[in-house]
Amino acid sequence: MAAMTRPLLNRRLAEFGTTIFAEMSALALSTGSINLGQGFPDTDGPEEIREAAVRALRDGRGNQYPPGPGVPELRTAIAAHQQSRYALAFDPDTEVLVTAGATEAIAASLLALVEPGDEVIALEPYYDSYAACIAMAGGTRVPVTLRPREGAYHLDLDELRDAITDRTRLILLNTPHNPTGTVLTREELGAIAALAVERDLLVITDEVYEHLTFDGAEHLPLASFPGMRERTVTISSAGKTFSFTGWKVGWATASPALITAVRSAKQFLTYVSAGPFQYAVAEALRLPGTYFENLRADLSSKRDLLSDGLTAAGFEVYKPAGTYFVTTDIRPLGESDGFAFCRALPERCGVVAIPNAVFYDHRDQGAPFVRFAFCKRTEVLQDAVDRLKGLS
Ligand code: PMP
Ligand code: GLN
Repeated sequence: MAAMTRPLLNRRLAEFGTTIFAEMSALALSTGSINLGQGFPDTDGPEEIREAAVRALRDGRGNQYPPGPGVPELRTAIAAHQQSRYALAFDPDTEVLVTAGATEAIAASLLALVEPGDEVIALEPYYDSYAACIAMAGGTRVPVTLRPREGAYHLDLDELRDAITDRTRLILLNTPHNPTGTVLTREELGAIAALAVERDLLVITDEVYEHLTFDGAEHLPLASFPGMRERTVTISSAGKTFSFTGWKVGWATASPALITAVRSAKQFLTYVSAGPFQYAVAEALRLPGTYFENLRADLSSKRDLLSDGLTAAGFEVYKPAGTYFVTTDIRPLGESDGFAFCRALPERCGVVAIPNAVFYDHRDQGAPFVRFAFCKRTEVLQDAVDRLKGLS
């Protein structure tokens, strides 16, 4: 039984445990609370896109293994989307890879590009799968902390520059940024691009919230900056843009050499996934501009509803410029421990949220911050706001 005497979970993963999203969604279910924790919409995406998936299933498209890189219809639609939206030209045959959600694209990119011992810079607070995937790749994560100032979170470019060493392999970027709602500006992205070129770094950029920006904030893909087209893996997915998080259709766009590398890892993770849904997402990417405008307008008003409600309930609110999350500071409520606060919140007022500390290496820096999701029906958000009023 010697095999059983040492810990079963290997040391690369030992620190990670169960994701906070699973823990908090289970808590929402067991307490009957409103779940503003895990980020998923409580209404499905466009009916015609669901019908497209049904049609694909019925017509026998994608019911068997699709091609490894993704079905040509979807790869073409992804390339057309990058072209029409950002004037970025990608060859659908050599520069586009369909993945099992953005999650697999992130994992495959890190597994493909990181050697054990390489350093990977990630903006802290970072989405939880980044840390786990860097660890699985044998890399060392180097957090660069976004800091709250004047109602928003900011990147300190000097800190980023100082974090780069001879061992740095790549920067793992996320804009619009989960959980802070920050959208990196043209100046910030330009400076990151210049650093990447100067220090000869690769960049993986997670842009799953590319369509969810508010108040005129503009999402700019890093790949469009000088020198970045050849050194950037751009990742997105259908989950947020089309409100089908369960379909797990994601993608990466990059140079042929980078896509080949990422595909080398991806082929041994899932090989392929989501056959019929790939056809449906190809149609979704071709929805008219009004679809994307309406999505933004709807989420923008929900952001205001929840932000105002949280402010009224006594939280300090960092109003997001993008994503569907709002980060709050709980200290004005006399609280300082986001974990304890989130674990008690269902009991206190029937709402579930996420403690931002889980997204930090420097846990103390994240301790008083709590994230709420606003991708829910208006009446659900109103109910949550009414419940939260009881806190102060
Ligand atoms: N990146 C970020 C920043 C996310 O918030 C999420 C989850 N919503 C993902 C990646 C994963 O996306 P997917 O569901 O497409 O795997
Ligand atoms: N990305 C979603 C969030 O940040 C959750 C995804 C997940 O459950 N892993 O809430």
